[in-house]
Amino acid sequence: MVQYFTNIYESVKSSLVGMSVTFGHLFTKSVTLQYPKEKMEMPELARLKLDYDWEDCTGCNKCVRACPVDCIIIETVKATKGDDVGKTKNDTQKKLWVTKYVIDYSECMYCGLCTYPCPEECIYMTPEYEYSEYDRGNLIVSFSKLSAGEIVEKERLLEKEKAENEALRAAKAAEKAKAKMETKATVSETDESLLIQDYVAKALAGDEEIVKNIEDRVLRSKVKKALFKAKRMGAAAEVPKSAEVSQAEASTSDDAKIMRLVEKGLAGEMDAINAIEDRVFRSKVKKALMKAKRERGQK
Ligand code: SF4
Ligand code: SF4
Repeated sequence: MVQYFTNIYESVKSSLVGMSVTFGHLFTKSVTLQYPKEKMEMPELARLKLDYDWEDCTGCNKCVRACPVDCIIIETVKATKGDDVGKTKNDTQKKLWVTKYVIDYSECMYCGLCTYPCPEECIYMTPEYEYSEYDRGNLIVSFSKLSAGEIVEKERLLEKEKAENEALRAAKAAEKAKAKMETKATVSETDESLLIQDYVAKALAGDEEIVKNIEDRVLRSKVKKALFKAKRMGAAAEVPKSAEVSQAEASTSDDAKIMRLVEKGLAGEMDAINAIEDRVFRSKVKKALMKAKRERGQK
């Protein structure tokens, strides 16, 4: 009997304790949010959705390279000369048209790695989380600064500019090659002229055999012609003037130089001999001149 009443007491007591807890919560603030009427406030740095400001994108591709799951795709077309793509908010001149910028949200794992290397800070994480879709294809978003027709036109202009630049480069290279050939031809003409002068000087000094021994028929004929002319004009006209001596005479032998200067001395042009800076060489020339004068009976 006692046990019977004890059980009734315990049941009523336990019900009252439970009811007191429930009753106590009637006067406290509720934690349940009535979504979607009520929304939870996200932390300031929450990474929930990637966003992109395509007006500032330079198309540098740094975000693409940083993404570990390849969920960003960028396509660009280089701006042609005089084509103004505009500037970013950081005052960076854009040089590429961003023709396609794709983000696949179904692949994105919200790591935020793509946001750090962006020099224009135009790709960033936001606390937005309400972008679920029934179709996964709707989670792929695409931006473009140009219409399909404009992209085709930009590509055409770029190809045209490339072809023009290529043609210009080829023309410049051809011009350079031509100038090089002309220089080479001028140099070889100068060399031949010096060689002829050298043969003429040696022949005038009495070594006429040297002319006969020239194997190149064309050269031999030229030397003979120059020798004939030099003899007719008294040899002096073929000898370079003293002011121009250094370059021409540098490549001929000392004997030939001495002979030419002696010829000048005999013709009364002593300035060429007196202008020789090398004292030893000047003395040799003067000695040869005196000898030549003695042989010709001049004083
Ligand atoms: S947040 Fe991570 S996964 Fe998503 S696009 Fe950026 S780098 Fe790729
Ligand atoms: S890193 Fe920034 S500027 Fe470069 S392509 Fe990506 S979003 Fe554009």
